[in-house]
Amino acid sequence: MKRYYIGVEIGGTNLRSGLIDANFHAEQFRKIPTSLFAREKDKIGFLARLAEEYIAVCGRENVAAVTMALASLMDKERTVVYSSPMIPGFEGISLVDGLSRKLGIPVIIEKDVNILLRYEIWRNHLPTEGIIAGTFLGTGLGNAMCIDGRVYAGHSGTACELGHIPVPDLEEMCGCGKKGCVELLTCGRLLYKLATEKYGCRVDDIFELYGQEQPVRDIVRYCAVAIAAEITILDPAYMILGGGVMEMKGFPMDDLQQTVRENLRIPNPRDSIRFVPASGDSEAGVIGAALHAADRN
Ligand SMILES: [Zn+2]
Repeated sequence: MKRYYIGVEIGGTNLRSGLIDANFHAEQFRKIPTSLFAREKDKIGFLARLAEEYIAVCGRENVAAVTMALASLMDKERTVVYSSPMIPGFEGISLVDGLSRKLGIPVIIEKDVNILLRYEIWRNHLPTEGIIAGTFLGTGLGNAMCIDGRVYAGHSGTACELGHIPVPDLEEMCGCGKKGCVELLTCGRLLYKLATEKYGCRVDDIFELYGQEQPVRDIVRYCAVAIAAEITILDPAYMILGGGVMEMKGFPMDDLQQTVRENLRIPNPRDSIRFVPASGDSEAGVIGAALHAADRN
């Protein structure tokens, strides 16, 4: 019986990792700046050294899997990282093969939003039948769905790219390589730009100081419209709402939910959809990674 999982979450800002036991409790947890990883040329070597620190604590034979939650584009089989817009050089890497060979332990990779959704379902004791969706507004607009307890990856592995649905007449280029994506109108990057260039405040204060200003309200409104589009198509039982932007102080969560409902059909799903604010737990991605590994075993 393997008793431990090693979970790693690599976000744009922080790289979190931990040693998770069979009850999904984080026995060890660590957070370092992602920039340390971004600077390293040998990405697989860096991750192997990180994992070995936990292996030294619990023993190689007791680790069921090393699971990574990544803000990256990857193949459907979840073996190769194609690109990571926020991490230079973390692209075109056969991560699963390379790392599992080095460690002698199974390695699993998955999109971070899918892992975070999995965690919130577990944390909130939500029933797994039917569809549960999650929207995570952070640097970008992330989205995921679970159908009958299983993460839906899509035909090619790229389902739920809600941030990249097109907006008519929007000519701006998106980091994904096409123009006019809704994410350009509703993401942390835009919030940062408004804070530094328009209002001259810290981005952390923007909702408290300038939440009533139209450009800030528009960010929330475009997010609501994207969420309403997904609910209209899927009629999910729950919509989990999280991500760094939604967890900022002063974020108008009530306004967001009300605007989503105003854009939904009457009586349902306007009345039936249930919103669940995400926990904001620092260990969410690391424990979610263990939950994901346990599901696969
Ligand atoms: Zn895009």
